[in-house]
Amino acid sequence: MNATAVSPVVPVDFWTSIFRGWRGRCPRCGTGSLFGSFLKMQSNCPSCGLALEPFRADDAPAYFTIFAVGHVVIPMVLAFEKYGDTPPLWLHALLWLPLSVILALLLLPRIKGAVIALLWTQSADVPKPTASGSAPLL
Ligand SMILES: [Zn+2]
Repeated sequence: MNATAVSPVVPVDFWTSIFRGWRGRCPRCGTGSLFGSFLKMQSNCPSCGLALEPFRADDAPAYFTIFAVGHVVIPMVLAFEKYGDTPPLWLHALLWLPLSVILALLLLPRIKGAVIALLWTQSADVPKPTASGSAPLL
């Protein structure tokens, strides 16, 4: 990264940073990308240099994605079952499995970006674990 390319940092309100994270952008500057690939976080924002590595979402994006996809797909399954004249199981599988996978793939990076932005707004950064797996005790 070129040190002269670092942009000035201005204060960001909560919802703006969450929206930036949802879009896969840095929660601080809104310009740099959070992800190097589909879900792989960059270690630093390429635009403002914000250290992104300490903001670790862990399993939260997966939980929120399952929660959201379940709340979209399950009512549709139940409504289809009730008003669809008892459709066969293969039709359920044909409809809901691809829909669930597509929704999960669409939502997961967005939710992960929003979680990273939420962690950044709350200053919930975690130090990088040591080689022994934990921070040294004082
Ligand atoms: Zn940035």
